[in-house]
Amino acid sequence: MAYLRHPSRASHEELDSLDMFTHESMHIRGELNEARTECQAVQRNYRAAKLLGVADATAKQNALDIYNINYQQRGAIGGMQAAYYSDECAPGKAMDEHLSDSTWAAP
Ligand SMILES: [Zn+2]
Repeated sequence: MAYLRHPSRASHEELDSLDMFTHESMHIRGELNEARTECQAVQRNYRAAKLLGVADATAKQNALDIYNINYQQRGAIGGMQAAYYSDECAPGKAMDEHLSDSTWAAP
């Protein structure tokens, strides 16, 4: 709710909350592998933010920030966080689903 009150100045933790919402939605669809689940979420955070009512440009920036900052830090931290990360989760790599409204698709 804090994220939705001021999405254009979302904190790192508020961006994490959007990502968690999308991540758990991917589990509900049936995916169990954490790295695949998280990559599906990363690609859909733009769509998820818009569904929650966030303005288009802000939703895109929030989703890109989650991918470029929060997600990449997870890979760097390693340990348990690394289970949620794959270097194949990137544009044109193995886990790219080529969604038309992907976080990292060109507008
Ligand atoms: Zn999970």
